[in-house]
Amino acid sequence: MSEKKIPYKIYLEESEMPKQWYNVRADMKNKPAPLLNPATLKPMTAEELGAVFCKELVNQELDDTNPYIDIPEEIRDFYKMYRPSPLVRAYCLEKKLGTPAKIYYKFEGNNTSGSHKLNSAIAQAYYAKKQGLKGVTTETGAGQWGTALSMACAYFDLDCKVYMVKVSYEQKPFRREVMRTYGASVTPSPSDTTEVGRKILAEHPGTTGSLGCAISEAVEAATTREGYRYVLGSVLNQVLLHQSVIGLETKTALDKYDITPDIIIGCAGGGSNLGGLISPFMGEKLRGEKDYHFIAVEPASCPSFTRGRYAYDFCDTGRVCPLSKMYTLGSGFIPSANHAGGLRYHGMSSTLSQLYDDGLMEARSVEQTAVFEAAEQFARIEGILPAPESAHAIRVAIDEAMKCKETGEEKTIVFGLTGTGYFDMVAYEKFNNGEMTDYIPTDEDLAAGFAGLPKVE
Ligand SMILES: *Cc1c(COP(=O)(O)O)cnc(C)c1O
Repeated sequence: MSEKKIPYKIYLEESEMPKQWYNVRADMKNKPAPLLNPATLKPMTAEELGAVFCKELVNQELDDTNPYIDIPEEIRDFYKMYRPSPLVRAYCLEKKLGTPAKIYYKFEGNNTSGSHKLNSAIAQAYYAKKQGLKGVTTETGAGQWGTALSMACAYFDLDCKVYMVKVSYEQKPFRREVMRTYGASVTPSPSDTTEVGRKILAEHPGTTGSLGCAISEAVEAATTREGYRYVLGSVLNQVLLHQSVIGLETKTALDKYDITPDIIIGCAGGGSNLGGLISPFMGEKLRGEKDYHFIAVEPASCPSFTRGRYAYDFCDTGRVCPLSKMYTLGSGFIPSANHAGGLRYHGMSSTLSQLYDDGLMEARSVEQTAVFEAAEQFARIEGILPAPESAHAIRVAIDEAMKCKETGEEKTIVFGLTGTGYFDMVAYEKFNNGEMTDYIPTDEDLAAGFAGLPKVE
C-alpha cells in the first residue's frame, strides 16, 4: 500500500478524462434480454427502433459485443465544461461518524441541471443533430432529465419538447422555467395535445399524471412529427453506456492513489447512474480480475429490485413502447402519494436486472424518513445539499460505515452523489415539519401491479 496522503478532492486533468465509454454488456456472459415488439413479441429490429430513436443510439442500444465505444470529440468538449467531476473523500463525515471506514463520493451535481443526467442528454442531442433531425421529445418527472435535455438541445440548436408529469409541472414551477429558459417547450402530462393523452384523460379525469403516461405522450409526439425522435433519460442500455463516464473517472481517480473500493453504492431509479458508476468495476468482476460488493438502493415505497418480478413488461402506461425484461412492479404501479424521494419508476434497467438476477449485486430498500435523516446529516457535515434520490445512497453508505465502526473493519466505501436538492425543498420542508411518513406497499398493493404484466412466453 502506498502511503500517499489522499486529498479531500481527487481531481483529474482534462487529459485523464475518458475518450471511450465502457459497455459492460460486452463482458456479460448472460446478456440482458432483448426489447420485444409489443405486437409480435419478436425482438425489436434496428429498423423498428429507428422509427422512435436516433439511428446511432439504436446501434448503441443493440450493441452487446463492443466493450469500448468512442466518445465523439464534440461531446468530450461539452463534458469539459463541467467535468471531470470531483471524487471527494468524506473525511468530515468519517470523523463525525467515528468510523474506521474510508468513504468517498463521486459528485455529479456540479452543473446547472443539478444531476448526472446531462452526461447522457448531451450525447443523445449530439446524435440527433448529427442525423439532421429538427428536434427531440421526452418526458420528465421531477424535472432533472428535462432540464438536462433542454441544456443539451440549446447547445446543439435542436427543438426540445418536454412532457412533464402534471403534478410536478404545478409543484415545481422553477424547474419548468429553467427548461423554458433553455428554449424547451414544456407541456403538462397527460395533455390534450396527443391521442394517448386524451384517452388517459377520458379514462382518469383529474389525474395528476405519471412518468408512464408522459412517456406515451412523448413517443407519440415524436413518431407523428417529421424530423423528430424520442429520447429517454434512464433505463435504456445506451443511457447506461453514456453514464459509464462516471465510473471510468472514478476508477482513474482511485487508481491514482492505489485505492481499491470494497463496497460501491448507488441509488437506483431506472438504473442509469448506478449502472454508469459500477460498470468498469463490474467489468473487472465479470472478467474474474477483482471482486467488489455492489449495492443498489431503492425506496421501500417503490421496491422494483427487492420486491418486483423479473419479467417482460411495458415501459409506459399507454403501452406504446417496446417490452423490456426487467425487475418491475408492473406498468400500472404508482407509488403512494406520500412518497417524496424520487426514484419512482416501476421498472429497472434490463442490464442491471440481469446482473442482479445473476447474483452479481445486492439490492436494498430504505424508508424515506431514514433517507432524509441521512440527507440532513450529510448536508450538515459535508456541506452539499443532496438530492433526495442521492440520499438513498448516502443512507446505505452511512449504514455500512457504522457496521465498520462495530467490527473495526477499515473498508473503503464509494458511493454516487448524483445531484443537488435545491428543487426538492418541498420534500425537505415536509421532513423539517415532521410531516413526512413512511408507506410500504402491502403485498395486495403490489399484486394489482403484477396483474397487469403482459403474458410473454
Ligand atoms: C434521475 C435521478 C436519479 C435516478 O435515475 P437513475 O437512472 O436510476 O440514475 C438519481 N439521482 C438524481 C439526482 C436524478 O436526477
